[in-house]
Amino acid sequence: MTTPALMPVYPRCGVRPVRGEGVYLFGERGEKYLDFAAGIAVNALGHGHPHLTKAIQEQAATLMHVSNLYGSPQGEALAQRIVDNSFADTVFFTNSGVEAIECAIKTARRYHYANGNPQRHKLITFKNAFHGRSLGAISATDQAKMRDGFEPLLPGFAYAKFNDLDAALALIDDETAGFLVETVQGEGGMTAGTPEFIQGLRKACDDHGLLLILDEIQCGYGRTGKMWAYEHYGITPDILTSAKGIGGGFPLGACLATEEAAKGMVFGTHGSTYGGNPLGMAAGQAILDVMLEPGFLDHVVKMGGRLRQAFEQMIPNHDHLFEEIRGKGLMLGIKMKEPAVSRDFVAHLRDNHGLLTVAAGENVFRVLPPLIIDESHVTECIERLSAGARSFGIPSDA
Ligand SMILES: *Cc1c(COP(=O)(O)O)cnc(C)c1O
Repeated sequence: MTTPALMPVYPRCGVRPVRGEGVYLFGERGEKYLDFAAGIAVNALGHGHPHLTKAIQEQAATLMHVSNLYGSPQGEALAQRIVDNSFADTVFFTNSGVEAIECAIKTARRYHYANGNPQRHKLITFKNAFHGRSLGAISATDQAKMRDGFEPLLPGFAYAKFNDLDAALALIDDETAGFLVETVQGEGGMTAGTPEFIQGLRKACDDHGLLLILDEIQCGYGRTGKMWAYEHYGITPDILTSAKGIGGGFPLGACLATEEAAKGMVFGTHGSTYGGNPLGMAAGQAILDVMLEPGFLDHVVKMGGRLRQAFEQMIPNHDHLFEEIRGKGLMLGIKMKEPAVSRDFVAHLRDNHGLLTVAAGENVFRVLPPLIIDESHVTECIERLSAGARSFGIPSDA
């Protein structure tokens, strides 16, 4: 038998972290990395943040799990706090991003069902989208690498080009329930929705009685310098999915909705054994304690600006490698020029310069630091990145 005990679905790299401290990760042999991957935009407060750690420790000792058979003072309190700080009227808690997506899809279908239009079940989604790995979520993307071999998938999805409003509007028919879209595409290549696109989808929803579902699992929760990425566009969604940063490393997700959009989600329509358990709620509260402190989001904006500015200064010195900067706030991507390959560059930065970043689609590499970085980390990132760019050899036969 050669199959590893851990199902080999991930192409794991050689870094084997055993400890984290703030913006740094330490490997098995004590190697130190500047962590500008942050668990793929999850560790919003870095590693070992004292407030988050303490909240989890105390809650674990008090009450970890009871099931959703019982009343949830912890869930009510966190949901209320999220409602008070978003467009939403109601929240369903999950353990991951993809479960929030599943809840969003079900909520949208159930809305039209409750309105007497059960035929309106289709969601228009977008090319290069990433919504997670459940059968529902891989049905909601056109990316073959996620779908191949898993057919038949869930019916009821149509795919338009991202940031192409006319293409999206052309797909609306009598069976359309709404749009499912990342406000800023993450895995797909760090492309932000244009204002015309996001605002145009909102208007189409209003005109046709459709639901706008924003997937802010990666771009929400302070990542772009606003609590929610939709705030950059002056609109609000009907349904929104959140995860990643919402638990800062504790597995937590949420599906947020307006009262109207959630009208079909009545007793018995949905559930989760772990979702919203007291331990998760304590982690979620600790994250919000920090994020809602005055000045926290201003800090993200400031650090995002510094990092972007430093990238802008660096790019002309390596213009055979780098093409453009994408993203918002501390959700930044640099598109590389062929024949340079972003995946190779990420490996080079990691193995030779102690800097962790993440590859994305469209030959982009992502820079997703903890939101608590300071100027010294920006400087260190740029030093390592510049050194990496200087020493990066592009294979001549590439
Ligand atoms: C990570 C991600 C997901 C999936 O979240 P999981 O917690 O891995 O299930 C969905 N959508 C977006 C935009 C993501 O970045």
